[in-house]
Amino acid sequence: MPAPDVTELKQRACQVVDQLAPHMEAIASDIHAHPETGWDTPRSAARLQEFVAEYGMEVERGVAGLHCAFRAATPGRARGTHPAVCFLAEYDALPGLGHACGHNLIGTVASAAGIAVSKVLEEAGIPGVAYVMGTPFEEGGGGKIVMVDEGIFDVADASLMFHPGGGGHVRVGAPNIAAHMLKFRFHGKSAHSGAAPHEGVNAADAAMLTFTAINAMRQHVTGDVRIHGIITKGGEAANIVPAETEISMSVRAINHRVLMGVVERVRNCARAGAMAAGCRLDIEETPTFKERLVLQSYRELVCDNLPALGLPVPASDPQQYASADSGNVSYRIPHLTFNLPVSEEEAVAPHTPAFAVATDSDMARQAMNQATKLMAMAAIDLLTDPERMAAIQAEHRQKLADAEA
Ligand SMILES: [Zn+2]
Repeated sequence: MPAPDVTELKQRACQVVDQLAPHMEAIASDIHAHPETGWDTPRSAARLQEFVAEYGMEVERGVAGLHCAFRAATPGRARGTHPAVCFLAEYDALPGLGHACGHNLIGTVASAAGIAVSKVLEEAGIPGVAYVMGTPFEEGGGGKIVMVDEGIFDVADASLMFHPGGGGHVRVGAPNIAAHMLKFRFHGKSAHSGAAPHEGVNAADAAMLTFTAINAMRQHVTGDVRIHGIITKGGEAANIVPAETEISMSVRAINHRVLMGVVERVRNCARAGAMAAGCRLDIEETPTFKERLVLQSYRELVCDNLPALGLPVPASDPQQYASADSGNVSYRIPHLTFNLPVSEEEAVAPHTPAFAVATDSDMARQAMNQATKLMAMAAIDLLTDPERMAAIQAEHRQKLADAEA
């Protein structure tokens, strides 16, 4: 069989994406209109599962023991078939802000790319598999971390993800930072604040002292470190000494090794606050979101596909100070996240109300179309060019060795 004409395969994939566009727009708008948060996002997950199933992909629901996670694959191709590429779908929203991170677009793009690449592989009789990974609760939960630990991504040789951005920027593989989330619960003793305050143990004091200690620490950390928290429980009434309080805290740093040192200092701030107020402290933690490993060879492969879509090739990608659980995927298999804008405004940034508006706009629909095409084209390169895939995997092994050294 003659070698496939890659340009033709990519053109065919783009044609399929254009055919899918009305369906994609309907799904992305529908998920946007019905935001779900946390681990429990059944409606959003079902919309994407139905979408890929309608076009023939084989769907495994509830993978990794997560009821809203899924894995869909090119039909008729046994698990373990290589080469294989996976597209990461997200669909959770932000509490109170709806789809202010654009996961409605991320999920739809990954699903449509899976459909388009599967179709091209089948029509051209080319070996390989495209997977869509349905990854729940990115915003603070780390669904991908559970899925990494359960080996869900091990079927794929490389992974790709789209994330919408603002400011008109196209970014390919921008480095981000690592994050760790903690909950501090302080247990004191309630008493009448006026009649018998000496009988009480004030859990609100413990929480406030924790913030004071953390604020004192800020002068003595490197510039990459971010520590931000809220009081999720602060007491019941001013005339009752608060018996129970709770802080939700995020800590970030340039990489997960630096981060763990800072996290221990933050735990000590909470221990100090608890001790000073005479409270007992419980600490609950979520798994660490690792920083993404950025592979230059992977970045080049994706950038090579930008001109055909009329998109500018970024000379470099600035350091980002957000975090994502795709970082943990990048520690397992080669991963690349690219950003296309859903707004020209610099101020329209993720996690703001304006961004929630932008993720259901005409520009969002255009970004979704281009992102799906870019994802499909890059995947076709990965699946048809064993040398490039091998180079990306070699760089990944090297980066992993450097990161763990
Ligand atoms: Zn987000």
